[in-house]
Amino acid sequence: MESGQAYGKSLRTVKSCVGSTWCRFGVLDSVSMAINLELRYRGLRSPHKLKMGVSGCARECAEARGKDVGVIATSEGWNLYVGGNGGANPAHAQLLAGGLDDETLVKYIDRYFMYYIRTADRLQRTARWQEELDGGLEHVRQVVVEDSLGIADELEAAMAKHVGSYEDEWAATLKDPERLRRFRSFVNAPSRKMRPSSSSRNAARSVRPPTKRRAPS
Ligand code: SF4
Repeated sequence: MESGQAYGKSLRTVKSCVGSTWCRFGVLDSVSMAINLELRYRGLRSPHKLKMGVSGCARECAEARGKDVGVIATSEGWNLYVGGNGGANPAHAQLLAGGLDDETLVKYIDRYFMYYIRTADRLQRTARWQEELDGGLEHVRQVVVEDSLGIADELEAAMAKHVGSYEDEWAATLKDPERLRRFRSFVNAPSRKMRPSSSSRNAARSVRPPTKRRAPS
């Protein structure tokens, strides 16, 4: 994952277990799903950090239910959990929909994230947002799964726009000398731009009011 996304109010690295490719208990390929989700939602600006996890079976080695969006494989398809977090005030993510195919899973996550981004307060994680929403999880389910507000297309279009316009801002900055000039490698690294020339330092001295010398006591 690109630099800068380890600390932004945006998607963090998506955690996955080893899934059906490497684990005898695995029901679905959690690694590929985690990579796809990370590539889709990377750089998505949001009211707070966004964490995701994908587990290949109900043993839950990726701790997906401790994330804002958790995905767990079952023999019927993917189960989608929402509104989890760790930290000082932990919350288990709740089941939003079960037995989903890949396409429906991504569609519901698109809608969920965009609805959260549009309605949550600044610095409000998904768990607290769901608690404070009128109707709580049931309301979220109606909006995301049943399209009760008639905004599903709009939410999906907003996410499609994000996915289509994503760029790694740090890589773009490295290629742009103008933007790069705003950064220094060390706080005390010499910078000709920051340091006034000797003539301007002399000019500043000449306008500085004289200071009185205190008599030695
Ligand atoms: S969650 Fe299941 S599939 Fe994934 S590593 Fe654990 S036991 Fe294996």
